[in-house]
Amino acid sequence: MAKTRDDLDPETLLVTGGRSPDPHVVNTPIYRASTHLYEDCAALRAGTKTNADGTFFYGRRGGPTQWALCEALAALEPGAEGTVLYPSGAAAIAGALLAVLSPGDVVLITDNVYETSRVIAGGILKRMGIEARYFDPLDTDGFARQFCDRTRAVLLESPGSLTMEICDIPALAATARSRSAAVLIDNTWASVAGFKSLSHGCDIAIEALTKHVGGHSDLMMGACTAGPEWYGKLRITAQEIGHVVSPDDAALALRGLRTLGVRLERETASALRIAEWLAGRSEVAEVLCPMLPGAPGHALWQRDYTGGCGLFSFVLADGYDDAARCRLIDALELFGIGYSWGGFESLATPVHALRTATRWPAERLAVRLSIGLENPGALIADLERGLAALKGA
Ligand SMILES: *Cc1c(COP(=O)(O)O)cnc(C)c1O
Repeated sequence: MAKTRDDLDPETLLVTGGRSPDPHVVNTPIYRASTHLYEDCAALRAGTKTNADGTFFYGRRGGPTQWALCEALAALEPGAEGTVLYPSGAAAIAGALLAVLSPGDVVLITDNVYETSRVIAGGILKRMGIEARYFDPLDTDGFARQFCDRTRAVLLESPGSLTMEICDIPALAATARSRSAAVLIDNTWASVAGFKSLSHGCDIAIEALTKHVGGHSDLMMGACTAGPEWYGKLRITAQEIGHVVSPDDAALALRGLRTLGVRLERETASALRIAEWLAGRSEVAEVLCPMLPGAPGHALWQRDYTGGCGLFSFVLADGYDDAARCRLIDALELFGIGYSWGGFESLATPVHALRTATRWPAERLAVRLSIGLENPGALIADLERGLAALKGA
C-alpha cells in the first residue's frame, strides 16, 4: 500500500500514490462502470446513506480506477482533503466556480486568464447573475481595492495563459482571504509537481490533466484539489451536475502521472536552452519564460515554484506583422500547429491575448511554444528555419 503523504518526497509520491490496493500488482486495474448489485433491500437502502469514495453505489460516483487517480493527486498536494475529477480542464474550472459562487456574487478574475474561463464567466455565470470583474495580476497593491461586499471568490492563474506573467500568489491569496473570498487557482502550467497551491494560500487547485499529467496528447480531463473547507462542496457540486470520467482515461492519467517528474524536468531543461537561444536573436524582442534568468516573473518563480515546464512565449522584434509571424510558424517542421500543450510533442501557436483590465498592444506579436521531448538542438534548428522565414521571399 502507498505510504502516507508525509513520509515521502514529491518525486517518490508521483510513483507510489494511488497504487493498486492488491500488493501483487503495480497498477490499479481498469474497473469499468458496472451496475452495483446489493445483497437485499436493506443493503440497497443503506447504500444511499453513505457518499464516500471507496464504496460502490452507482457508476456515476466513480470506481476504484478513478479513486486511485484522486488519491494519487491529493497525496501530492499538502493540505488536501481530496481531489475531484472532471471530464475536461474547462469542466474543472466551471465546477470550481459553481461550487463557490451563488447568484448576486462577484468573482475577481485575473486579466490573463485562460480564454475558456472568460467564456464560462461571460456565459453560465452571467446567466446565473454572477458578475465577473477582471484585475491586473501584477498590481498586488491595488488588488485590495478590487473587492466589494459581494466578492466571494478570486480566480488566479500563474503564469498567465499565453503571456506568462507570474503573480505574487501568496500576497494576492492573503488579501483575498482577509476579505473572506475563496481563492481558486488554475495551476495547469506548473502542475501539482511544480507548485503547491494550497501551501501558498489558495483554497482550490484546478488543473487540466489534459496537459502535463496526461502528457501524451490522448486524453481530456480536469481536477480540483482542495482542503476540508471546499472538498465536500466541490464533490457534491460535481455529483449534482453529473460529472464522471471514464476509467480508461483515469488509467491513462495515472500512467502519465508516473513519468510526470522526468518529463517536466526534460521539458524544462530544453525550454530553458531554447529560451536562452531565442533571447540572443535579433528577431526576438523579449522571451516570456519564467525559468529564464532576467525574464519577467523569474524571481517569483524561483521563490514559489519547485519546477517549470516546456510552455513559454516570445515576442517578435518591431517591424514584423502577423503575416511574418504566420510565415515563421508555418515554416516549422518539428513543431506542430495546434492548441493544447504539455504532450511529448512540440507545438507552436500565434498568441492572441484578450485583455479587458490591462493592455497587450496589438502590435506586440508573440508566439507560444510548447517544448516536448525531442532533441532540443533539433528544435533550435527548426526555429532557426522559422526565423529565416520571417522576412519572406
Ligand atoms: C487547456 C487549459 C485548460 C482547459 O483544459 P481542457 O482539458 O482543454 O478543457 C485550462 N487551463 C489552462 C491554463 C489550459 O491551458
